[in-house]
Amino acid sequence: MPARTGAQFLRDLADGREIWVGGEKISAVAEHPALTGAAQALAEVFDLQHQAADVCLMPDPETGEQINVSHIIPRSADDLQRRHRALERIAEYSVGLMGRTPDYMNVTYAGFAGRCDEWAVNGNEVGAENLVRYQKKLAREDIALTHTIVHATVDLAKGKYPVGFDPVQLHKVEDTAHGIIVRGARILATLAPFADEIAVYPGAAMPDAAPAHALSFCIPVNSPGLKFICRDSVAVNTNRFEHPFSSRFDEQDAFVIFDNVEVPRERLFIDANLAVYNSVMKTTWWPNIMQQTMIRAQTKLEFAWGLASRIAEAIGMAQPQTQQMLGEIAMFAEFARAAVFAAEQGAREYGNGMWACDARPLIALRAALPAWFPRVNDIIRQIGAHNLLTTPARAALTDRQLRPLLDLYLPGVGIDAEQRSRLFRMAWDFTGTALASRNEQYERFYLGSIGRNLTMAQTLLERTRANRLVDRFLLEDS
Ligand SMILES: Cc1cc2nc3c(=O)[nH]c(=O)nc-3n(C[C@H](O)[C@H](O)[C@H](O)COP(=O)(O)OP(=O)(O)OC[C@H]3O[C@@H](n4cnc5c(N)ncnc54)[C@H](O)[C@@H]3O)c2cc1C
Repeated sequence: MPARTGAQFLRDLADGREIWVGGEKISAVAEHPALTGAAQALAEVFDLQHQAADVCLMPDPETGEQINVSHIIPRSADDLQRRHRALERIAEYSVGLMGRTPDYMNVTYAGFAGRCDEWAVNGNEVGAENLVRYQKKLAREDIALTHTIVHATVDLAKGKYPVGFDPVQLHKVEDTAHGIIVRGARILATLAPFADEIAVYPGAAMPDAAPAHALSFCIPVNSPGLKFICRDSVAVNTNRFEHPFSSRFDEQDAFVIFDNVEVPRERLFIDANLAVYNSVMKTTWWPNIMQQTMIRAQTKLEFAWGLASRIAEAIGMAQPQTQQMLGEIAMFAEFARAAVFAAEQGAREYGNGMWACDARPLIALRAALPAWFPRVNDIIRQIGAHNLLTTPARAALTDRQLRPLLDLYLPGVGIDAEQRSRLFRMAWDFTGTALASRNEQYERFYLGSIGRNLTMAQTLLERTRANRLVDRFLLEDS
């Protein structure tokens, strides 16, 4: 089956999955008020690949059928450039507000399959073969994946990762005739209500854990025993004028419980194999997936710069402090663009013929973003001030008596009351609504907190030259 359409995606959501939002177990995901906006938006993402087929689709190397370019296993710098164009096009759809459009996991699994040699170690040859076969299925059936790679938090004093055996954490219970039974919990599956399948793979090494916790697999979200407990919805079911983002971009986040779930043997990529679990993510995963996430982040920063500039212009706000704050967002966007460019320029073969970006600029950028995104929101709210809240609704603007008054009393510089309301509503939905708050939390944490990322920068970045520059003075004859 080639790349799916939006209609096919929506049809496939009705599969009996167990999704809880608030106190409600939801059966019709595509129709439920808390989920329908994002379901429709994701359908538009599936349609987008056909509308922009020249950028987003490519022939499957074996079957010739059209598949999404995000499934490409990069074998050259040109492949990375081709992927860049497709990822950028998808990021533009939600201006980076949906972090987990399916291309995120497509890129992840293309990377895993490209480095299947890293998975085929320590007796895990069959797991690696399963993974390669699954990645082809993912691409050919255009499956939307959610993922959960982080252990449930109960008592951090015991450590971030399981030490020995911990019955709360996802673990293998037993072998069955067709696979294994797993049980336990994981956080935090973004996109879960809208995904076809869920992926489990290592988030970080856990050297002291019992092997039963060392698992990787993909299974359908409607697998018996699999339960998704979503956070409260931040979707607002008005219209795209009043809530341009909350009406469609709440991609949801779910706590996941595996309550005695059977994983078919052919879907197992790591079966209680600690050595493989602790090594597969070390080399290529980061520079591979960072291309997707940083293109998304750069797109969002550039949008934020445009938005902030337009609201300042709409009310004639041009004093030096405003220009400086706008310049700050421009700087973030440009640094992000430059980091992605540098990473792609420095791309290289990592092993097994697979190419990925130079990790260094992306390590630095990822460490900066958890601080930059909250600052961007702060700037837009400072510039917008009360104007973020003087935003008549659609009904007020279409009221025949009210509209002339609104056009008289609430225009902006060169724009009427409707355009002004549209603009400031966009800025409020970006920075002030419940969706905006969730999105800020996402940017702060989705790939580790700022502390964790800065520690990684200090640990992983190459320091030879930095040391040499200092040593010159240390070793100088007095
Ligand atoms: C909106 C959202 C969506 C998410 N979606 C997914 C998903 O789809 N799939 C998935 O698997 N996970 C997802 N996650 C979870 C995400 O993987 C974790 O949030 C991430 O791994 C960070 O872990 P943590 O939240 O426990 O925070 P931590 O990184 O543990 O940070 C918590 C606090 O401890 C401090 N800290 C921790 N470690 C260090 C350190 N080494 N140095 C300095 N300070 C430190 C931090 O500064 C911070 O204040 C999502 C999270 C959010 C918020």
